[in-house]
Amino acid sequence: MATHQNEIEELKVFISTRESICGECSENLGSKAWITLAGEKGALCMACADLDHLIYVPSGDAALTRRAKKHSKLSAVVLRWSVVRKRFERQGVLVEEQGLEKAEEECLADSEVRERRRNREAVRREDLDRQYVEKFAQRVRELFPGCPAGRDAAIAQHACQKYSGRVGRSASAKNMDEEAVRSAVITHIRRHETDYDRLLAKGADRREARENVEREVIRVLRSWEALASQKANSDRSVHLQGLD
Ligand SMILES: [Zn+2]
Repeated sequence: MATHQNEIEELKVFISTRESICGECSENLGSKAWITLAGEKGALCMACADLDHLIYVPSGDAALTRRAKKHSKLSAVVLRWSVVRKRFERQGVLVEEQGLEKAEEECLADSEVRERRRNREAVRREDLDRQYVEKFAQRVRELFPGCPAGRDAAIAQHACQKYSGRVGRSASAKNMDEEAVRSAVITHIRRHETDYDRLLAKGADRREARENVEREVIRVLRSWEALASQKANSDRSVHLQGLD
C-alpha cells in the first residue's frame, strides 16, 4: 500500500511558459499559470483539476518534501521548462496541508532529537576535556611542585587547548608523559616569567628571542623543580623526626 504512490506515475503540475486557457472552465490563465495536462482537453487550471487545495512546498528540504508527500493522499510534482537546459525541472511539490503539518512536526522532532544528542555529546566532551586538564595539572604539580598555585591549571588549560574536543584515551596517555608536561611548563615560563613576548613585540626573531630568554627559563624551571627535592627532603626529615 505504501508503495502504491510510487508505482503510479506522479501527478505533474506545470508552470506554464506561454498563454494558456483552461480546457474546462475556459478561463484565460495568463502566461505563467500553474496547469495540469489532461489529454485532449489540454491545460486545466488548478481549480478544475481539483488541485487548488494543495499547498506548494518548494524543493530544498528533502526530508520535509518526502514526508509531506508520504502523509498526503494527493500530491503533485511541480515542473517548469528550463529554456537553458531544455528540459523540465522540478521546482517543488504540492501536498495536502495536514500532510505538510505532519511532516513539519516530524522534522521538528528530528531536529530536537539531533539537538539533544548534540548537547549530550558536548557535555560528554567537556567532561572528558575537564578530566584531561585536571590530570595534566596534577602532573604539573607532581613534576614541578614549586610551580606557583594556579599556574598548574593555566599551564594544563593551555596545553590541552589543542586537544579540546578530541581527547581520546590514546591522546591523553601520549600527551601526559613527562616530556610533554615539561614542554608545556617551559612554554608557560617563557611567556609569563621572561621578556620573551616583549622581545617578539619589538620585532625580534623568534629563535633569537628564545635564545635570549633561555637562561632565565631554565633558572625558573629549576626553581620550580627544586622545590620537589627540597620538599622531598623536608618530608624525609619530618619522617625521621617522627621516628625519634
Ligand atoms: Zn479551469
